[in-house]
Amino acid sequence: MKFSEEQIHRYSRQMILPRFGGRGQSKLAEAAVFIMGAGGLGSPAALYLAAAGVGTIGLADFDRVELHNLQRQILHRTPDVGLLKVESGKKTLASLNPEVKVQIYSERITAANILGIIKDYQLVLDGSDNFPTRFLVNDACYFEKKTLISGAILRFDGQLSTFKPHAGGPCYRCLFPQPPPPGTVPSCQEAGVLGAVAGVIGILQASEALKEILGIGDSMAGRFLLFNALSLTFQEVKISRNPSCPLCGEKPSIRTLIDYRPSCQPPSCA
Ligand SMILES: [Zn+2]
Repeated sequence: MKFSEEQIHRYSRQMILPRFGGRGQSKLAEAAVFIMGAGGLGSPAALYLAAAGVGTIGLADFDRVELHNLQRQILHRTPDVGLLKVESGKKTLASLNPEVKVQIYSERITAANILGIIKDYQLVLDGSDNFPTRFLVNDACYFEKKTLISGAILRFDGQLSTFKPHAGGPCYRCLFPQPPPPGTVPSCQEAGVLGAVAGVIGILQASEALKEILGIGDSMAGRFLLFNALSLTFQEVKISRNPSCPLCGEKPSIRTLIDYRPSCQPPSCA
Protein backbone atom coordinates (compact mmCIF):
# COMPACT_ATOMS: atom_id res chain seq x y z
CA MET A 1 0.00 0.00 0.00
CA LYS A 2 1.25 3.49 -0.93
CA PHE A 3 0.96 6.29 1.59
CA SER A 4 0.60 9.99 0.87
CA GLU A 5 2.96 12.47 2.52
CA GLU A 6 0.13 13.55 4.77
CA GLN A 7 -0.53 9.96 5.87
CA ILE A 8 3.15 9.37 6.62
CA HIS A 9 3.14 12.59 8.63
CA ARG A 10 -0.07 11.67 10.50
CA TYR A 11 1.09 8.18 11.44
CA SER A 12 4.84 8.85 11.73
CA ARG A 13 5.06 8.28 15.49
CA GLN A 14 3.71 4.75 15.21
CA MET A 15 5.20 3.82 11.83
CA ILE A 16 8.70 4.16 13.35
CA LEU A 17 7.85 1.56 16.00
CA PRO A 18 9.60 -1.82 15.77
CA ARG A 19 7.52 -4.41 13.86
CA PHE A 20 5.13 -1.68 12.68
CA GLY A 21 6.31 0.34 9.68
CA GLY A 22 4.39 0.70 6.43
CA ARG A 23 3.28 -2.91 6.63
CA GLY A 24 1.66 -2.39 10.00
CA GLN A 25 -0.02 0.79 8.82
CA SER A 26 -1.38 -1.07 5.78
CA LYS A 27 -2.79 -3.79 8.04
CA LEU A 28 -4.60 -1.14 10.09
CA ALA A 29 -5.93 0.57 6.96
CA GLU A 30 -7.34 -2.74 5.70
CA ALA A 31 -8.79 -3.71 9.11
CA ALA A 32 -12.46 -3.55 10.09
CA VAL A 33 -13.40 -3.44 13.78
CA PHE A 34 -16.94 -3.62 15.11
CA ILE A 35 -17.66 -1.83 18.40
CA MET A 36 -20.76 -2.81 20.35
CA GLY A 37 -21.87 0.32 22.18
CA ALA A 38 -20.84 3.97 21.69
CA GLY A 39 -20.74 4.53 25.45
CA GLY A 40 -18.12 4.55 28.19
CA LEU A 41 -15.95 1.77 26.72
CA GLY A 42 -16.75 2.22 23.03
CA SER A 43 -15.89 5.94 23.16
CA PRO A 44 -12.19 5.76 24.11
CA ALA A 45 -11.74 2.56 22.10
CA ALA A 46 -13.19 4.11 18.93
CA LEU A 47 -11.17 7.31 19.35
CA TYR A 48 -7.84 5.47 19.60
CA LEU A 49 -8.66 3.06 16.77
CA ALA A 50 -9.64 5.97 14.51
CA ALA A 51 -6.57 7.95 15.52
CA ALA A 52 -4.36 4.96 14.66
CA GLY A 53 -5.89 4.70 11.18
CA VAL A 54 -8.05 1.56 11.43
CA GLY A 55 -9.73 1.60 8.00
CA THR A 56 -13.30 0.73 8.97
CA ILE A 57 -14.98 1.12 12.34
CA GLY A 58 -18.49 -0.23 12.90
CA LEU A 59 -20.38 1.52 15.70
CA ALA A 60 -23.62 0.08 17.08
CA ASP A 61 -25.88 1.81 19.62
CA PHE A 62 -29.59 2.62 19.54
CA ASP A 63 -29.47 5.18 22.39
CA ARG A 64 -29.40 8.95 22.18
CA VAL A 65 -26.83 11.09 24.00
CA GLU A 66 -28.01 12.20 27.44
CA LEU A 67 -26.37 14.69 29.79
CA HIS A 68 -25.42 12.00 32.33
CA ASN A 69 -23.48 10.13 29.59
CA LEU A 70 -20.93 12.94 29.18
CA GLN A 71 -19.12 12.12 32.45
CA ARG A 72 -17.46 9.15 30.68
CA GLN A 73 -18.67 8.79 27.07
CA ILE A 74 -16.02 11.00 25.52
CA LEU A 75 -17.14 10.53 21.91
CA HIS A 76 -19.96 12.96 22.72
CA ARG A 77 -20.01 16.66 23.58
CA THR A 78 -22.58 18.85 25.33
CA PRO A 79 -24.11 20.14 22.03
CA ASP A 80 -24.62 16.47 21.01
CA VAL A 81 -27.22 15.83 23.75
CA GLY A 82 -30.32 14.47 22.00
CA LEU A 83 -28.46 13.10 18.95
CA LEU A 84 -28.19 9.39 18.26
CA LYS A 85 -24.93 8.21 19.85
CA VAL A 86 -23.79 6.66 16.58
CA GLU A 87 -24.37 9.96 14.71
CA SER A 88 -22.54 11.93 17.36
CA GLY A 89 -19.76 9.32 17.45
CA LYS A 90 -19.37 9.32 13.67
CA LYS A 91 -19.06 13.11 13.68
CA THR A 92 -16.35 13.05 16.36
CA LEU A 93 -14.37 10.27 14.67
CA ALA A 94 -14.58 12.04 11.29
CA SER A 95 -13.17 15.22 12.80
CA LEU A 96 -10.32 13.25 14.39
CA ASN A 97 -9.43 11.24 11.29
CA PRO A 98 -11.41 11.83 8.06
CA GLU A 99 -9.69 8.82 6.44
CA VAL A 100 -11.56 6.34 8.62
CA LYS A 101 -14.81 4.88 7.28
CA VAL A 102 -17.39 4.74 10.09
CA GLN A 103 -20.36 2.41 9.56
CA ILE A 104 -23.18 3.09 11.98
CA TYR A 105 -25.94 0.79 13.25
CA SER A 106 -28.68 2.63 15.17
CA GLU A 107 -31.03 -0.34 15.36
CA ARG A 108 -31.11 -2.69 18.36
CA ILE A 109 -28.64 -5.53 17.84
CA THR A 110 -30.52 -8.82 18.18
CA ALA A 111 -30.23 -12.51 17.34
CA ALA A 112 -31.94 -11.67 14.05
CA ASN A 113 -29.37 -9.17 12.75
CA ILE A 114 -26.04 -9.61 14.57
CA LEU A 115 -24.52 -12.35 12.38
CA GLY A 116 -25.18 -10.39 9.19
CA ILE A 117 -23.50 -7.34 10.71
CA ILE A 118 -20.36 -8.81 12.28
CA LYS A 119 -19.50 -11.03 9.32
CA ASP A 120 -17.92 -7.99 7.62
CA TYR A 121 -15.54 -7.33 10.53
CA GLN A 122 -12.41 -9.15 11.61
CA LEU A 123 -12.58 -8.10 15.26
CA VAL A 124 -15.37 -7.31 17.71
CA LEU A 125 -15.04 -5.06 20.76
CA ASP A 126 -17.77 -5.46 23.34
CA GLY A 127 -18.53 -2.33 25.32
CA SER A 128 -22.17 -3.13 26.02
CA ASP A 129 -23.79 -2.30 29.35
CA ASN A 130 -26.11 -5.28 29.82
CA PHE A 131 -25.90 -9.06 30.04
CA PRO A 132 -28.33 -9.99 27.25
CA THR A 133 -26.15 -8.10 24.75
CA ARG A 134 -22.90 -9.40 26.26
CA PHE A 135 -24.01 -13.03 25.83
CA LEU A 136 -25.46 -12.36 22.38
CA VAL A 137 -22.17 -10.82 21.20
CA ASN A 138 -20.15 -13.71 22.66
CA ASP A 139 -22.31 -16.36 21.01
CA ALA A 140 -22.35 -14.52 17.66
CA CYS A 141 -18.55 -14.19 17.71
CA TYR A 142 -18.27 -17.91 18.47
CA PHE A 143 -20.52 -18.90 15.55
CA GLU A 144 -18.78 -16.46 13.17
CA LYS A 145 -15.26 -17.29 14.47
CA LYS A 146 -14.52 -13.65 15.30
CA THR A 147 -12.02 -12.57 17.93
CA LEU A 148 -13.86 -10.81 20.76
CA ILE A 149 -12.19 -8.24 22.99
CA SER A 150 -14.44 -7.84 25.96
CA GLY A 151 -14.47 -5.05 28.53
CA ALA A 152 -16.69 -4.35 31.53
CA ILE A 153 -16.82 -1.66 34.20
CA LEU A 154 -18.69 -0.91 37.42
CA ARG A 155 -17.98 1.55 40.23
CA PHE A 156 -14.15 1.62 40.54
CA ASP A 157 -13.57 -1.76 38.87
CA GLY A 158 -12.88 -2.94 35.37
CA GLN A 159 -12.38 -6.26 33.58
CA LEU A 160 -10.77 -7.17 30.29
CA SER A 161 -10.19 -10.31 28.26
CA THR A 162 -9.91 -11.55 24.68
CA PHE A 163 -11.96 -14.55 23.60
CA LYS A 164 -11.00 -16.56 20.55
CA PRO A 165 -12.29 -20.12 20.92
CA HIS A 166 -11.62 -20.63 17.17
CA ALA A 167 -7.91 -20.47 18.11
CA GLY A 168 -8.28 -22.77 21.11
CA GLY A 169 -8.97 -20.28 23.91
CA PRO A 170 -12.03 -20.02 26.14
CA CYS A 171 -15.22 -18.09 25.32
CA TYR A 172 -17.10 -15.79 27.69
CA ARG A 173 -19.50 -18.62 28.59
CA CYS A 174 -16.57 -20.80 29.70
CA LEU A 175 -16.34 -18.33 32.62
CA PHE A 176 -19.99 -17.34 32.92
CA PRO A 177 -22.19 -20.10 31.46
CA GLN A 178 -25.48 -18.16 31.81
CA PRO A 179 -26.50 -14.54 32.40
CA PRO A 180 -27.16 -13.74 36.07
CA PRO A 181 -30.85 -13.52 37.01
CA PRO A 182 -32.22 -10.01 36.30
CA GLY A 183 -31.69 -7.66 39.24
CA THR A 184 -28.83 -9.57 40.88
CA VAL A 185 -26.03 -7.46 39.38
CA PRO A 186 -26.45 -3.69 39.67
CA SER A 187 -26.19 -1.47 36.58
CA CYS A 188 -24.07 1.68 36.23
CA GLN A 189 -27.28 3.62 36.81
CA GLU A 190 -27.77 1.91 40.18
CA ALA A 191 -24.18 1.49 41.35
CA GLY A 192 -22.30 4.30 39.61
CA VAL A 193 -19.01 4.26 37.74
CA LEU A 194 -15.90 6.43 37.73
CA GLY A 195 -15.55 7.84 34.22
CA ALA A 196 -11.79 7.36 34.08
CA VAL A 197 -12.24 3.62 34.76
CA ALA A 198 -14.15 3.40 31.47
CA GLY A 199 -11.20 5.18 29.87
CA VAL A 200 -8.66 2.71 31.26
CA ILE A 201 -10.56 -0.38 30.10
CA GLY A 202 -11.71 1.07 26.75
CA ILE A 203 -8.17 2.10 25.88
CA LEU A 204 -6.86 -1.35 26.84
CA GLN A 205 -9.47 -2.82 24.48
CA ALA A 206 -8.17 -0.53 21.71
CA SER A 207 -4.56 -1.49 22.48
CA GLU A 208 -5.42 -5.21 22.35
CA ALA A 209 -7.34 -4.69 19.08
CA LEU A 210 -4.32 -2.99 17.49
CA LYS A 211 -2.05 -5.84 18.67
CA GLU A 212 -4.43 -8.47 17.25
CA ILE A 213 -4.56 -6.67 13.89
CA LEU A 214 -0.79 -6.19 13.76
CA GLY A 215 -0.09 -9.70 15.07
CA ILE A 216 2.35 -8.44 17.71
CA GLY A 217 2.83 -9.06 21.42
CA ASP A 218 1.00 -11.49 23.69
CA SER A 219 -2.76 -11.86 23.22
CA MET A 220 -5.10 -11.55 26.22
CA ALA A 221 -6.75 -14.82 25.11
CA GLY A 222 -6.62 -17.21 28.08
CA ARG A 223 -6.02 -14.33 30.49
CA PHE A 224 -8.54 -12.29 32.45
CA LEU A 225 -7.53 -8.88 33.79
CA LEU A 226 -9.11 -7.26 36.83
CA PHE A 227 -8.49 -3.56 37.47
CA ASN A 228 -9.29 -1.60 40.62
CA ALA A 229 -8.84 2.16 40.50
CA LEU A 230 -8.98 2.77 44.27
CA SER A 231 -6.03 0.51 45.06
CA LEU A 232 -4.60 1.01 41.56
CA THR A 233 -4.01 -2.68 41.11
CA PHE A 234 -4.13 -4.96 38.11
CA GLN A 235 -4.69 -8.63 38.82
CA GLU A 236 -4.37 -11.27 36.12
CA VAL A 237 -6.11 -14.64 36.27
CA LYS A 238 -5.38 -17.48 33.86
CA ILE A 239 -8.51 -18.85 32.23
CA SER A 240 -8.93 -21.92 30.08
CA ARG A 241 -11.57 -23.58 27.98
CA ASN A 242 -14.33 -25.21 30.00
CA PRO A 243 -15.10 -28.69 28.56
CA SER A 244 -18.67 -28.38 29.89
CA CYS A 245 -19.20 -24.87 28.41
CA PRO A 246 -22.77 -24.79 27.04
CA LEU A 247 -21.50 -23.08 23.86
CA CYS A 248 -17.97 -24.23 22.98
CA GLY A 249 -17.75 -27.32 25.22
CA GLU A 250 -17.75 -30.99 24.28
CA LYS A 251 -21.54 -31.36 24.44
CA PRO A 252 -22.88 -27.90 23.59
CA SER A 253 -26.51 -27.21 24.45
CA ILE A 254 -26.55 -23.82 22.67
CA ARG A 255 -26.69 -24.17 18.90
CA THR A 256 -28.42 -20.93 17.92
CA LEU A 257 -28.43 -17.34 19.14
CA ILE A 258 -30.59 -16.47 22.13
CA ASP A 259 -32.32 -13.13 22.75
CA TYR A 260 -32.51 -13.10 26.53
CA ARG A 261 -34.50 -9.89 26.37
CA PRO A 262 -37.80 -10.00 24.45
CA SER A 263 -37.54 -7.62 21.52
CA CYS A 264 -40.86 -6.01 22.48
CA GLN A 265 -39.34 -4.43 25.58
CA PRO A 266 -38.84 -0.68 25.24
CA PRO A 267 -35.27 0.71 25.04
CA SER A 268 -35.67 2.29 28.49
CA CYS A 269 -35.31 -1.20 29.98
CA ALA A 270 -31.66 -1.35 28.74
ZN1 LIG B 1 -16.96 -21.59 26.03
